[in-house]
Amino acid sequence: MSIKRVGVIGGGQLAWMMAMAAKSLGIRLVVQTPNVTDPAVCLAAETVFAAIDDGVATEQIASRCDVITFENEFINLDALKSLANRGICFYPRLESLAPLLDKYDQRCYFDRIGLPQPEFISLEGEVGQQELKSLGSDRTPINLSQLEFPLVLKARRQGYDGKGTFIIKDSHSLQEIWNQLDNQPVVLEEFIPFERELAVMAARSVDGQVVVYPVVETQQEEQVCRRVIAPAQISPDTVAEVNAIAKTLLTSLDVVGVFGIELFLTSNHKVLVNEVSPRTHNSGHYTIDACQTSQFEQQLRAVVGLPLGSPQMHCPSAVMVNLLGYESSQDDYQQKRQTLASLPGAFVHWYGKTQSRPGRKLAHVTVLSDGNSVQEVIDKVESVWYG
Ligand code: ADP
Repeated sequence: MSIKRVGVIGGGQLAWMMAMAAKSLGIRLVVQTPNVTDPAVCLAAETVFAAIDDGVATEQIASRCDVITFENEFINLDALKSLANRGICFYPRLESLAPLLDKYDQRCYFDRIGLPQPEFISLEGEVGQQELKSLGSDRTPINLSQLEFPLVLKARRQGYDGKGTFIIKDSHSLQEIWNQLDNQPVVLEEFIPFERELAVMAARSVDGQVVVYPVVETQQEEQVCRRVIAPAQISPDTVAEVNAIAKTLLTSLDVVGVFGIELFLTSNHKVLVNEVSPRTHNSGHYTIDACQTSQFEQQLRAVVGLPLGSPQMHCPSAVMVNLLGYESSQDDYQQKRQTLASLPGAFVHWYGKTQSRPGRKLAHVTVLSDGNSVQEVIDKVESVWYG
C-alpha cells in the first residue's frame, strides 16, 4: 500500500503547487512554514507554524506523516540528522542533500563525479591581509593576483533569485563586495559568456528509476528568471549530454525525489553545470500545464513510492513567464489576470501572496503554443503585465 501522508518543510508557492498535486493523488500534505499568509497554508491538510529550520516543529510534522520532503534548501541539516537517526524518513535522504546546501560544496561534489562546470575557487580569510586564502577545488592555495576578471562571486548559502550572486569586474569591486558580505567564505568562479542558459528537471524513484523532463531554455534578467521556453531549441547531442548529466547526478547522489539542474550552453556548444536545486524548481513550472506529469506530482510520486509518471510534453511547445511584482501594493491585479487567462492556451497560476514588492514572484503564466509564436507570446504576456 502506498504512503498517504507527506510532510513538507516550507510553505511558499512550490509547496502550494505541491498541495494541489497532493489533492489529486489523495495524499494528505502537512506543511511546516512560519506565516499564516504563506501560499501553501490555504491548501494544506494541516500546518505547523514554525521557521523552516526549526527541528522541533519538523518532529511534530513527522509524528503525523510517513515521509518528509522539502520545498527549499534552507534547512537545518544537523537538527534533521538527529531525527533521521531516530527513524524519521526524509526523501530526498539527508545524505543526498548534504553536498548541495552550500555552493562551494556543490562545486566540489560536481568535480568529484566529473561533471563539466566553470572553474572555481573558495575565497576565505580577510581581504588585503596576509592570511587571505583562496583555494582551488583540491584546496591548494591560489594566488589572487593571478585572477582574471570578470569573475562571479557567490555567497555559499542562502542565495536565491540571484541574491548573493555578483558579477565582479575588477579587484577593487571584489574587495568591496566581499566586505559587504562580512568577508564570509564565498565561491569565486569563472564568468561564463554563455550563449544560452538551460535547465532540466529530473526525478528518481525509491527503486532507482530516473526520468528526465525536456530540456528548457531559461532567460534571466538581473539574475532573476523571467521566462522559460520548453523545449529548448538545441541539438540532439546537447539534449543527450544534459540527460546524461542529470542521470549521473541523481544516481550518484542516490536521490529519491525531483531535482532541478541549471546549466550554461557556450557558443562552442559546451554544456556546463551552474547549480542544482534539490527540489522542484521555477524552470519546471511549465510541467503543470504542458507535461503528462507535473514536477509536483512527480515529487510526490517519488517520495511515496508510486511509479513515476511520464515526463513527456503533451503539446509541441510552451512558454512560462514569471509575473514579478513591479510596485509595492496589496492589489490582486484582477484585470490583468483576466486578460492573461483569456489568451489562447494560457494558464495563470496566482500564488495568493498578500503583498507585492518589486521583483517578487507573484504568479506565473504558461502558454501552450505550436512553437512558432514563442516570441510573440512572450511579448504579449509581458506587455499585458508590465504595461
Ligand atoms: P541563484 O542561486 O540565486 O539562482 P545562480 O548561481 O543560479 O544564483 O546565479 C543566478 C544567475 O547569475 C544565473 O542564472 C546566471 O544568469 C548568472 N550567473 C551565475 N553564475 C554565472 C557564471 N559563472 N557565469 C556567468 N553568469 C553566471
